[in-house]
Amino acid sequence: MLLKVEHLRVAFKLGGGKVSVPVRDVSFDIPENSRIALVGESGCGKSLSALAIGGLVDRAEISGVVAKAPDTRIAYIFQNPMQSLNPAIKCGKQIEEGRRTAASVAELLASVGLDASAARKYPCQLSGGQQQRVMIAMALAQEPDLLVADEPTTALDVTTQKEVLDLIRQLAAERGMSVLFITHNLGLVAEYSDYVNVMYAGQIVESGPVGKVLVAPRHPYTKGLLAAVPSLSAPKDAPLAGIPGVVPQPDAWPSGCAFHPRCPVATPACSSASFTACPCMK
Ligand code: SF4
Repeated sequence: MLLKVEHLRVAFKLGGGKVSVPVRDVSFDIPENSRIALVGESGCGKSLSALAIGGLVDRAEISGVVAKAPDTRIAYIFQNPMQSLNPAIKCGKQIEEGRRTAASVAELLASVGLDASAARKYPCQLSGGQQQRVMIAMALAQEPDLLVADEPTTALDVTTQKEVLDLIRQLAAERGMSVLFITHNLGLVAEYSDYVNVMYAGQIVESGPVGKVLVAPRHPYTKGLLAAVPSLSAPKDAPLAGIPGVVPQPDAWPSGCAFHPRCPVATPACSSASFTACPCMK
């Protein structure tokens, strides 16, 4: 096992004695050479969980266990490369800064499909897709065992999204690197992941092999996410399905099952103090 997360909790002290707990109880495994997805709406704690496993969260109370294989290296790529790259430093220098691999900057650029001349350019001289390739080259420069791809294609157009995702899959396969995809895009999960963890309100509510969870979801939240995926075969004027309401704030999770205010099959027992587990998961 490359990485094992058990009962991860991330809390922030707010003013007035209040505490915000965006990640409440998250457990998942990342085997070697695997593609794992963390999926859910914005505000469910996906990105924060991924940052916490790399020790990248400041000023938080973090508990739980993050067990890594010895010398495990984790690299991240984020959704908006222009915000992650330094606009005042040429791309080659930025790749060089974190380089641990013997591969040169030119070789790293070639491995992500960019010409060596990209090293002499500033990020603003590249397209969004090229910037994301530079981010991937920076990640590869660290020779990671695990690549965390946090909504890596959200800021890109559809054809570039596919190119970047195919590239990540190809590089992971060539290097035996595991990938943790963080996304709200179930299409991406279906095509690029082997195993999925569905997160809601700081907890994993359902997990399993992609073929099983996406074909026969059990948790009402997973079913809601799947029902919200637009279908090309639906009538043109059919209203888009969605999950009513919004993800609650992490300093005020609802009592019992946090999904009960939005759940179409909630019962009074779901919001009671004695709630333990969703009956749909039994
Ligand atoms: S516990 Fe109840 S409210 Fe929560 S998801 Fe299950 S059925 Fe819905």
